[in-house]
Amino acid sequence: MKTKQIYCSFCGRGSREALVFPGPNDANICADCAQHITDAVNEAEKVAKADDKKKLPALGPVPPPKEIKAFLDNYVIGHDETKKILSVAVHNHYRRLEQKENGDSHPDPEFDDVEIEKSNILLIGPTGTGKTLFAKTLARMLKVPYAIGDATTLTEAGYVGEDVENLVRYLLQNAGGDVELAKRGIIYVDEIDKIASKTDNVSITRDVSGEGVQQALLKIIEGTVCRIPPKGGRKHPDQEYIEVDTSNILFICGGAFVGLDRIIGERTGRRTIGYGADETEASTRGSDIEALDVRPEDLVKFGLIPEFTGRLPVITAMKELTEDQLVQVLTEPKNCLVKQYRKLLAMDGVKLAFEDGALRELARNAITRKTGARGLRAAMERVMTDVMYEAPGGNAGRKVTITAEMVRERLK
Ligand code: ADP
Repeated sequence: MKTKQIYCSFCGRGSREALVFPGPNDANICADCAQHITDAVNEAEKVAKADDKKKLPALGPVPPPKEIKAFLDNYVIGHDETKKILSVAVHNHYRRLEQKENGDSHPDPEFDDVEIEKSNILLIGPTGTGKTLFAKTLARMLKVPYAIGDATTLTEAGYVGEDVENLVRYLLQNAGGDVELAKRGIIYVDEIDKIASKTDNVSITRDVSGEGVQQALLKIIEGTVCRIPPKGGRKHPDQEYIEVDTSNILFICGGAFVGLDRIIGERTGRRTIGYGADETEASTRGSDIEALDVRPEDLVKFGLIPEFTGRLPVITAMKELTEDQLVQVLTEPKNCLVKQYRKLLAMDGVKLAFEDGALRELARNAITRKTGARGLRAAMERVMTDVMYEAPGGNAGRKVTITAEMVRERLK
């Protein structure tokens, strides 16, 4: 008995002239047409993938360290040695990424199996010296997204508080949801000294969750695939996740490390570092460590686990800003407070000037309050309230000068 002939639904050939397979809903396909469709699907996938790649702007040419430092100079006052160290570390980091993204094209076979390792950074310095500013400014220069987190809010997964993975979630948000862009971003983790475990360390008063958080952070710093719930919020077993590989994310950790100067002093045999006579003063803010003073073993003594310090090979310490530097913070950076207020008043035709003494009063006030540059803004707001209240409206052409006396009066 003859089998019933079936016909390809695409080219119409029957099963006697071609290999025709029966499909669902009375539709059939011959081998040639199936091949044709498979080729078309493969081609479309290739194009889609190429488009995907195109979406991510190529990592711009990695600027040489000197250029990075010059850019930092525009925004951050002082910390010359730290700027150099950061410029080199960041340059190397993005060179490494460039090599990974573009494939290893070095002509010399000597380097075939050489993989450049990631150099995460530890910034040690008192509050308001510019640690966060460094992270932000670097991200701005390199046009990569960044996220800022606080180690004291982090907990190991499963405990009350924030998961360490949230840091990556913020980064993804700041990258506008673009996973590829997030993967080359910068995460700044502040107050890293507060998750030191207490053992061996006399001066830490708070141990949020110590070693467990260090372990959790260690994993994402080393590089792991984080699974981020797409709409934020808590994880849910049936949810789909966005996967972000953290192995190319640059981590910058920062903290004041109060008491670290004593640990270094013990190691080096220098009883006191810094301001000489007043040991407690220097130790209450961890204020006077030189950029290159710190060794990993000091940090272990302080309470960081060795694996963790091992993942932060670039260490630098920043000193408190001096009075002169605080005046510079007020007047020199591209977006400094003095320029901001002058601009605001210029919109009303009012010329604003600051006596040098006024700026010094503001700087001294920040030093007394131990806020570093961080307190300058609030102090400035207080000083400027009356002027900002009176000047705009009908005062075009006038000049207002802020005197030392005015500052003293307002900050009394
Ligand atoms: P930290 O992270 O060290 O506590 P921040 O970077 O948050 O300090 O500094 C707070 C603010 O103070 C910054 O946004 C910036 O306006 C100013 N600031 C701090 N340090 C500097 C600096 N070295 N140069 C210029 N501005 C600074």
